[in-house]
Amino acid sequence: MDEKKAQWPLFEPSSDLAFKPVPLMLDQLLEKLHLTTPLNILVLAPHPDDFDAIAVTLRFFQQRGDTIHLAVLTNGASGVEDGFAGAHTDEEKTFLREAEQIASCRFFGLAPEHLRFLRLPLDDNGNPFLDDANRQRIRVCLQQSHADLVFMPHGNDSNITHQRTYALFRSVALEDKLSLWAVLNQDAKTQVMRTDLYTPFDEVSAQWKAQLLRLHASQHQRNLNMRGHGFDERVLAINRQAGAARDVAYAEVFELERFE
Ligand SMILES: [Zn+2]
Repeated sequence: MDEKKAQWPLFEPSSDLAFKPVPLMLDQLLEKLHLTTPLNILVLAPHPDDFDAIAVTLRFFQQRGDTIHLAVLTNGASGVEDGFAGAHTDEEKTFLREAEQIASCRFFGLAPEHLRFLRLPLDDNGNPFLDDANRQRIRVCLQQSHADLVFMPHGNDSNITHQRTYALFRSVALEDKLSLWAVLNQDAKTQVMRTDLYTPFDEVSAQWKAQLLRLHASQHQRNLNMRGHGFDERVLAINRQAGAARDVAYAEVFELERFE
């Protein structure tokens, strides 16, 4: 970070002289936040597949030559339908979901040594414990990645594992007085959030992203069975809706939070 501290939200006067935050487009981010490059980026994915939900944004950084590390917090076994691809036990389902994430990271171009599965201990409902042991695992990821930006789903989400991922991160960031930006993405189950940043994208990128999302075959099939449309469409529908609000075909949207 530059000595010059960026304040958030960035404000600009509107016509009625009230002040309102203005969402940034992704390519304005580095300048507006006074970020020095190359950047270190950590993605805290509550489940295998949360990385892929923001793949167009992450590809922007990947193509610039920034360093991306992905930590997948939980095994995602509870998201696999019993018997899918012959998987019945938690161990078999874990193997399946991790294999899907490895395949999607290969397609994305993330080096295998930048992907790690934390397999955090889970409570009876399949959510990670909010305890010191899990905070310590997140602390190690933050320390090893020297992250300038940390991506994860927004904590205001009906999914408890998403809530707790943010809570674990936040307590470590505050306790260790880390200096970084949290970049909190909109997900299918996000309730309310502020849009500070958005990544517009076109149909060609949408097709690339759809291909990536379909590599999570267990999730693709589950969505087809439950909702009658695939995992790719589930995610792209949210991006399409976010894009329509900004007059672009698709957008991934984020809230920014500064930690000092
Ligand atoms: Zn998730």
